Amino acid sequence: MYNPKSLKAEEFIDDGEIRETLSYAEANKDNYELIDSILEKARPTKTADGWHCSGLTHREASVLLACEEPSRIERMYEVAEEIKLAFYGNRIVIFVPLYLSNYCINGCLYCPYHVENSHIARKKLTQDEIRAEVMALQDMGHKRLAIEAGEDPENNPIEYILESIKTIYGVHHKNGDIRRVNVNIAATTVENYKKLADAGIGTYILFQETYNKKGYEELHPYGPKHDYAYHTEAMDRAMKGGIDDVGLGVLFGLEGYKYEFAGLLMHAEHLEAVHGVGPHTISVPRVKHADDIDPDAFDNSISDEIFTKIAACIRIAVPYTGMIISTRENEKVRARMLQVGISQISGGSRTSVGGYTEEERPHDTEQFDVSDQRTLDEVIKWLMESGHIPSFCTACYRAGRTGDRFMALCKAGQIQNCCHPNALMTLKEYLVDYASEETKKMGEEMIERELLNIPKENVRETCKKYLDKIVDGERDFRF
Ligand code: SAM
Repeated sequence: MYNPKSLKAEEFIDDGEIRETLSYAEANKDNYELIDSILEKARPTKTADGWHCSGLTHREASVLLACEEPSRIERMYEVAEEIKLAFYGNRIVIFVPLYLSNYCINGCLYCPYHVENSHIARKKLTQDEIRAEVMALQDMGHKRLAIEAGEDPENNPIEYILESIKTIYGVHHKNGDIRRVNVNIAATTVENYKKLADAGIGTYILFQETYNKKGYEELHPYGPKHDYAYHTEAMDRAMKGGIDDVGLGVLFGLEGYKYEFAGLLMHAEHLEAVHGVGPHTISVPRVKHADDIDPDAFDNSISDEIFTKIAACIRIAVPYTGMIISTRENEKVRARMLQVGISQISGGSRTSVGGYTEEERPHDTEQFDVSDQRTLDEVIKWLMESGHIPSFCTACYRAGRTGDRFMALCKAGQIQNCCHPNALMTLKEYLVDYASEETKKMGEEMIERELLNIPKENVRETCKKYLDKIVDGERDFRF
């Protein structure tokens, strides 16, 4: 029986409720009166203390996703963009993945790390190798990492992950600094989540892969990840362990996208109902070609159009949740996705273990093919060319603004007085320390222009002072 407050996976992601939602959506996909009213309800409104957005239920959002009428779909894109601009402005947060180890004991059918894949080299970074990788990433200009590892209690125990986090935070190469380490490792226990929280991680990210229990069990035929309930209830354990910011995601292409979409939103509603705060981020990966993996083996692949529509509908349904897209997608798709709601992207990524210290992009330990192979500097320049401010900001969690405290900042419309100057200051650090001449010139002009968009005069003046101090060699200012 469907119950968003339940702690049991099969009750908060109730298969019956998803199927009824899909029938309801199908029955109403041409009900334009309803669709227009849902879109109107979802639009941001400006109140005395900032922007407000109501969000949508999984049923309402599923009706939008089912609608195929072109002018309504256009309207969805407009509303998604409106919401994005109201809450996230033109800032795009930059991160990069760091693969620690590809040892894995699971049998995930879509992932080349599956234990039976004998033709990829298995590799686990030593702490010295991690230091070298982190220096290479700092030399590119990165400040935020997402660490990735396969599931293997013997090769990658929690102690290894904790030690690696400590190593990463401890590297200060030239002006470099990793200020936020997000963690994407397999579902684990409350005690282990507590250890990760104590290690000062940012977001704990775990993709559900699929919310369809039957499909999930087939795609994960053995290994600890086979347990659907243990995996699906992981975010509750993470929050119980003291991790305030959690990141959800579905691996699109494995199962039917409408089912996944409803499940994803029900998961978000569940977190809000139980913990009083929804997911910090939602990622939208699509299954990619990889060693031993042919994406065509999964017959639920989605077109770029449907993919864009999914992103727009997520943006509209959960306006306070950041949205992430990785270099799995090419430049063209990423550009479109930025318009409809994405607020974080990776840049200069390599998905191989130890890939950043190599001159050439290595393929022998890679997780999946990277479509966007541009350098970080090229990505930064490209973002600015399309009017986006690349942001390396990590202020919130370091200032204790996690979970509902971040949401409060967002809801009070203070992002423009806080995230905006922080974005400009971290961009300035990038320009001074790492950018090419061309990127630097473009960035300096952008900062001059964007300073005018800080509403509070005293914040603007302080920001200008900090920008000057960055030129003089000081680092790490934040509001
Ligand atoms: N091992 C951890 C787990 O099982 O959750 C997390 C790390 S895994 C390296 C990160 C994610 O990569 C997985 O959750 C999955 O969604 C994604 N992934 C795996 N194979 C992929 C493929 N062929 N194409 C795209 N993404 C893939």
